[in-house]
Amino acid sequence: MSPRRLTLWLWLVAVLLAVPALATSTAGAAIEPPWCGTPIPDGTAALPDGSSPTHPVGSYPHIPWYAIGCTLDRIQSQSNGRMTYRVTGQSANGFDLYAVTINALDTKTQRRDFATWEKIRKFSLDHPANAQKTLENAGGSVKIPLMISAGIHGNESEGIDATLMLIERLATTPYGADPFVDNVLNHSILIVNVIQNPDGHILNQRANGNNFDLNRDWLTQSQPETKATFPLIQEWLPADLLDQHGYVTPTLIEATTKPHNPGIEYDMWLKWNQGRIDANEAAMNAIGLAVTRPINDWCWDGDIPVNGICTGDGSSRPNDWGPRWAESWDDWGPFYTPMYSQLVGLNGSTVEMCNSTGTGCSVPGTTIAFPRGRIGARTAQYTTATSTLTYDIANRVDLMHDQLEVYRRGVTDAARPTTADLPPGFDNEENNWMHEYPQAYVIPVGGTQRSDAEAHRLVRWLMENGIRVRAVAAPYLYDGTRLETGSFVVFMDQALRGLADTALGPGVDVTSRISILYAPPGAWSHGSLWGADVLTVPDGVRFKPETERLTAAPQARGGVVGSGSAFALALNSPTAVRTMNALLAGGTAAEFATVSFANSSGTQMPAGSVLFPASAQAALQSAATAAGVWFYGVSALPAREPINRSPRIAVLTPAVNQDVWVLRNLGFTANPIATGGTSALNNPAGANPLDGYDAVFNTAGWPGGATAQARLTAFFAGGGGYMGAGANGAAFLTSAGQIGGLAAATRGGNGRSGIVYWDNQAAANRLITGAYPDRDTAIMDPPTWFTSTPTAWTIDGRLPAMSFFVAGLWPIAGDAQSATAANAPVIAHGVNTAGSARMVTFAMNPLYRADPEREWPMISSAALWVDQ
Ligand SMILES: [Zn+2]
Repeated sequence: MSPRRLTLWLWLVAVLLAVPALATSTAGAAIEPPWCGTPIPDGTAALPDGSSPTHPVGSYPHIPWYAIGCTLDRIQSQSNGRMTYRVTGQSANGFDLYAVTINALDTKTQRRDFATWEKIRKFSLDHPANAQKTLENAGGSVKIPLMISAGIHGNESEGIDATLMLIERLATTPYGADPFVDNVLNHSILIVNVIQNPDGHILNQRANGNNFDLNRDWLTQSQPETKATFPLIQEWLPADLLDQHGYVTPTLIEATTKPHNPGIEYDMWLKWNQGRIDANEAAMNAIGLAVTRPINDWCWDGDIPVNGICTGDGSSRPNDWGPRWAESWDDWGPFYTPMYSQLVGLNGSTVEMCNSTGTGCSVPGTTIAFPRGRIGARTAQYTTATSTLTYDIANRVDLMHDQLEVYRRGVTDAARPTTADLPPGFDNEENNWMHEYPQAYVIPVGGTQRSDAEAHRLVRWLMENGIRVRAVAAPYLYDGTRLETGSFVVFMDQALRGLADTALGPGVDVTSRISILYAPPGAWSHGSLWGADVLTVPDGVRFKPETERLTAAPQARGGVVGSGSAFALALNSPTAVRTMNALLAGGTAAEFATVSFANSSGTQMPAGSVLFPASAQAALQSAATAAGVWFYGVSALPAREPINRSPRIAVLTPAVNQDVWVLRNLGFTANPIATGGTSALNNPAGANPLDGYDAVFNTAGWPGGATAQARLTAFFAGGGGYMGAGANGAAFLTSAGQIGGLAAATRGGNGRSGIVYWDNQAAANRLITGAYPDRDTAIMDPPTWFTSTPTAWTIDGRLPAMSFFVAGLWPIAGDAQSATAANAPVIAHGVNTAGSARMVTFAMNPLYRADPEREWPMISSAALWVDQ
C-alpha cells in the first residue's frame, strides 16, 4: 500500500466508524441448514474424471443448489413484493438458473424514481443526451440498476451464500428498521444472478457440465448459462457489476492492470472503478480485512512488491510497480463477466474473496451463526457488495450521467479520450489503449460473402447485444466490392461502439507493450473467427450507402437452384455442416466430392462439397429454407466417395469438453472416451469403447496402458480415422508408431495466444480446406506449428512467411523457437505408414471453445474424409 493510500485509508476508516456498522452478525441468520428442497447429491458427486470431490458426503459447506429455489420462494413470500425472482434458464446439465430483482415500489417516491429510470433506459442507447436531460431534471429522484453475479466458478461458492444473506436482508427487513436497507430500496434496483454455474457447484468444479469455463464465454455466449444471463445485463445496463470469485488473500478487488480493452472509455471507467474500490477497501479495513488492488499495488511481472520492491525477477526492475507498470490482471478480453459488463454498462469488478485457510481472512469478533464454510471469505463478499451498493447509490446521479456520457460519446462519434484525460497517476501512455474506431463494419450478403447463413447469425448476435445494425437498401459499390441489397452495416457512431469494435475488429497485437496476459486468448474477434466475412470501412473514406435500421434480425434466404442428377452443398459454414448432418440423420443418402467441380450454373464448387441425389429435392428444399443455405444442381458428377452415415467420433478425453461440445453442436455423434489406466478402454475384460466409432478426435498424448494402446492400434489398422489438434495431437501419432516425420513446436506461457493468418495451399481442390479462401484466419492458444510433416502427406495450410500474427500476445522477433513458425505447415493430411487409416492433423485446435466457428467446417470435411 502506498503512503498516499494509507492516508486515504485512515480517513475512510474514520468516516466509516462514524456510521453504524453493517449488521453482518445478524443478517441472513436463516440462510443455513437444515435446507429446504429435495436433496440431490451436491458437492458430493464423483467428478467427471472419476476422482472424488474435495467435500465428503454430508459436509458440503454452502447452500446446496437444490435449496436455492425453495429459499428464494420463502424470501419472496416474505418480501411483500419487494423481491421477485424468475428462472432464467437451465445449466448444461439441466439445473435451474435464478435471477432475483429487488425493486421496492411500496412508496409513491419509489415508484416515481423507478419510472424515471424507465424513461432514461428507453432513451439510453439511441438518445443518450435526452436521457441525460431526464436524469438532470430528476434531481436525484431516480433509481440506479446495479448487479451482482455469484458462483460462476463452481468451486468458489461463498459468494452465493453472501448474496443470499444480502437478498434476505434487503427483502425481509421491515422498512425503517435498517438505514442501509432503506437506502437500497429507495434508490436502486438490485439484480442478482444467484448462481451462474449450478453444474460446477454440484460437481465442486470450476467449469460447467460441458467443461467450459463460463468466465471466458461472455463474448461467444455459447453456453446455456451465458445465454440465460447476458440478457439481464442488456436489459438493465447496470452501472456497476460485481462478479464473485475466490480465492486471493487478501481479497482482490479488481482494479485491472494493462492492457485495457480498447473499447472501454477508460477515463470514465477508471474514475468510477478506483472510487468504488476506495470505498470497498475502507469498508473491508473497518472490519479488519485487507484488500489487494492489482493496478494500484502490483509489479510489472505480476508479483506483489515486498517492502515496496519488486523482487520476483531478481530485482532487475525493482521499482516498476503501480499503475504505470502493473501487469497480469488485465481487462483485455471481453469474455470475462465484468469486462463484458464494462463494455455494456460502465463499472465492474471481479472480487476474489480471501480464503480462511490462509492468513489474512479472519474476521475479528465475527459471530455469524453459520456452522460450516469459510466465514472470512463470505464476509469479504458481503462487505464488498454492501459497500458497493452504498457508494454507487450515494453517487448515482454522477455515475449514471457518466454512463450515459459514454453512450453519448458513441452516438456523436466523439474522439477517444487522450492520455491527459486519465486521472493523475494513470495519465501515462502505458495505460492508454484506446484507439480511434473505423467508420463502419460491413457484413455483406450474397456475392462475395462466404456464408449468408453465418452473416445472419452474426447480425442476430449483434442485435441481441444492443448493437445497432442497418441494412443496405440498394446495391452499393464500396472499394471494388458490390454490396448487395440486404448487406449489413454496423456504423460506429453508436452507444455500444466499444463492444461492436471488440467483437468485429481483428484485435490488437499487444506483444510490444505487454509481457503477460491474465488468461488466453489474446484475441477473440467474431469478425475474424466466426463464419461470415466482415469488411472494415476506415474513417475518412467515402461510404454513403442507403440503409435502413433493422428492428429484428432477418432470416437468411436459401433454396435449391439448377438441375441435374444431384444437388451439392458446399461445406463452408457451421450451418452447412448442421444441415448435412440433419439430412443424414433423416435418412437422405449423400456422397462427398474429392475434387472441385462445376455445378449446373457453371459455378465452381470446392472439393469436400456434399452431393445429395436429385430424388431428395423436396427434403433439400425444406432444409435449405430453414437453414438459409443453397443447394446447386450438378449434371456432370465429379469424383466422389460415399458417406455411409454421419461420422461417429470418439473424442479421447475423460469427460465432455469443448471438443465434444463443438462436434455435437455441429450435429455429429461425439462422445468422450477416457484413455487412462483405469479407463474402460484399458480394461481387457470389458467391451471396447471404440466399437461403433468411425474416427477419433484427439488433443492428448498416447496412453500408457497396454490394452488402450492395443485397441487404438487395432482401430487404425481397421481403417478408423484420426483427427488430431495441437502439439499433442501430432505427438500421439509418433508415439503410436502410426507415422514418422510429424513434429510440432509450441510456444505457450504468460498467456501467449491470438489470431494468425494461414494460407490455403491449394484452394478449391483440397479436401480439407477446399471451402476456404487463399488466406484466412485461425485462433491459436498456445501458438503451435509443425516443424516437420510426413513426406507423403499433403500440406493444406501454412502460416505465411511474413507478418502471420494478427492479434494477441506472441513475441516472435528474437525468439529462436518462434522463428521456426514462419511458413510452417499448420494443417496436413495423409495416411498412416501401414496405409490403413486416414489422418488429419491441425497445429491449432479448430474446436477451441466457441471462438473459431470459422474453423469448424474444416474439421467436418476432415471427418468425412478420414471415415472410410
Ligand atoms: Zn473464479
